[in-house]
Amino acid sequence: MTPDSIKKFAAEAAKLPGIGPRQATRIAFYLAREGNKKIASLASALTGLSGLTQCELCHNIMPVSEGKQCAICRNPQRNPTIVAVVEKETDLLSLEKTGKFSGRYCVLGELAKDGLLEPEEKRRLKKLQERAREIKPEGKFNELIIALNHTAYGELGAISLIQEMKPFAKKITRLGRGLPTGGEVEFADEETLGGALASRN
Ligand SMILES: [Zn+2]
Repeated sequence: MTPDSIKKFAAEAAKLPGIGPRQATRIAFYLAREGNKKIASLASALTGLSGLTQCELCHNIMPVSEGKQCAICRNPQRNPTIVAVVEKETDLLSLEKTGKFSGRYCVLGELAKDGLLEPEEKRRLKKLQERAREIKPEGKFNELIIALNHTAYGELGAISLIQEMKPFAKKITRLGRGLPTGGEVEFADEETLGGALASRN
């Protein structure tokens, strides 16, 4: 009854974050109704995403055309001895919007609900440790800011992070007052997040 092409699209869309199977099917029918022009414009936007890659240092998403390191990692004005560890690219964007952070980043990846680190996250932390070793003379960051969500799994993730990174940072801080318990970095307004950054402890 349902056309195969609808089923096929829905199966792919349902793999996207925040989209369930029912919504995925609705989107497929919506696009079919909207017609070829809409479908072509979405297809072209999707293809555009394939021109992106990960920064080799901080793992932020960046255009392939810019080389191996993102604009933040390439910027000599950004302090390489202060690093904020965030879960997602959107968290990085939220911190950037505050305009109050002049260090660099490590995008860790989305933490599992038990707060344990996945193999890919461990690999990214290894890279972060290498970045610390390159800082002369001590091979340590001056400050590592754990900018994870103030949720139960964020707390567990923070514990894992502190264990792994303690030998590689003179000081490890966390986003402070203002960011409420249960609060997510991505959804905090600029003022709240700016305050949490200023009162990190
Ligand atoms: Zn980078």
